[in-house]
Amino acid sequence: MADDFARIAAAPGRVNLMGDHTDYNDGFALPAAIPLSCRVEYAAVASQRISVSSDAAPAQGVVSLAADGTADDLRTDWPGLVSAVAASLDRRGRSPIGMTAAVSSDVPLGAGLSSSAAFEIAIGSALCDAAGWPLPSAELAAACREAELAATGVPCGPMDQLASVFGRRGHALLLDCRSLEIEPVAVPDDLRIVAIHTGVARRLAGSAYASRRDACARLTHDLGVASLRDATPTQVSDQPFGRHVVSENARVLATAEALRSNDRKALGTLFAESHRSLADDYAVSTAELDALVDAATASGTVACRMTGAGFGGCVVALLDRTDADEVIARTTERYESRTGHRPTVYPCDPSDGARVGPA
Ligand code: ADP
Ligand code: MG
Repeated sequence: MADDFARIAAAPGRVNLMGDHTDYNDGFALPAAIPLSCRVEYAAVASQRISVSSDAAPAQGVVSLAADGTADDLRTDWPGLVSAVAASLDRRGRSPIGMTAAVSSDVPLGAGLSSSAAFEIAIGSALCDAAGWPLPSAELAAACREAELAATGVPCGPMDQLASVFGRRGHALLLDCRSLEIEPVAVPDDLRIVAIHTGVARRLAGSAYASRRDACARLTHDLGVASLRDATPTQVSDQPFGRHVVSENARVLATAEALRSNDRKALGTLFAESHRSLADDYAVSTAELDALVDAATASGTVACRMTGAGFGGCVVALLDRTDADEVIARTTERYESRTGHRPTVYPCDPSDGARVGPA
């Protein structure tokens, strides 16, 4: 089947090394694109229709919609994302050129490694390429972020789409979510990065995310600052959510510095502090995430913390390359014997961002 398609667009997921729940507060984050990606094989077609299937939803078969993103009926889940991406690009001036496409992805869905941004950026890249309409990468990221909000109602920050577009091999991306400036930070060669899934699906993630976001907006208003990015530690000293955001922003900058100087002790401390802050102040961890971080730390990781929005999903661990396999094995054994859940390990060494080319 793949032979029918002339072109392929591939976009990676991402792991966030530091800075969770900071991106929607105009703060800092430190994501890296990962070696797992969503691939869209496609060909432009004369009709003004998009026909797309995904191997993540084989029972759904081929979904068809207008090339300007107009949905013929109320669409939910991934067809809704395709139509929102097409509509977002249409508003920016893409001609309604159709395409036929097949999606496959090795980014786990709903694990906190941003399969959604990988999917949107891959679809968006394919649509732009099919129309012979090059769109600057930052605009593509903005269009896909807008589409995710339109399709899911989740008011996500800019991190996921930017990481998928601007990922660079061997580097984390120091992201200023206010200016949207990105500074690549080299990850030391002797560090390996993995995400380990707790084996427990995310619960309540959407509603809890929205309620945290609302609470941050109220706090911003009460403090009279433009965003929590501008609050001082003293201003938020008796506000757990504010305390997390302000301290997490400082930890992002300190983590970038610790990567530059390969200061493993500092990395270990910063990751542990971030996990505690997300668990105690921001209240987005779970018993399983805590148990997995404990198991990893006791097994000899350089650094480990929960990553992503929380309420289930993954931890991210930095490991010494020389003993990484043994440390991972000890971690997963310890965690499974303590909780009864089987963890899954995903490779997360920093990788290049989205690309388009011949299939
Ligand atoms: P995460 O981004 O952490 O993986 P989300 O809940 O934000 O979790 O995104 C998962 C959603 O992204 C899925 O429900 C689906 O709508 C969409 N998605 C991601 N990858 C694919 C894919 N390969 N095929 C179809 N839909 C996908
Ligand atoms: Mg997502």
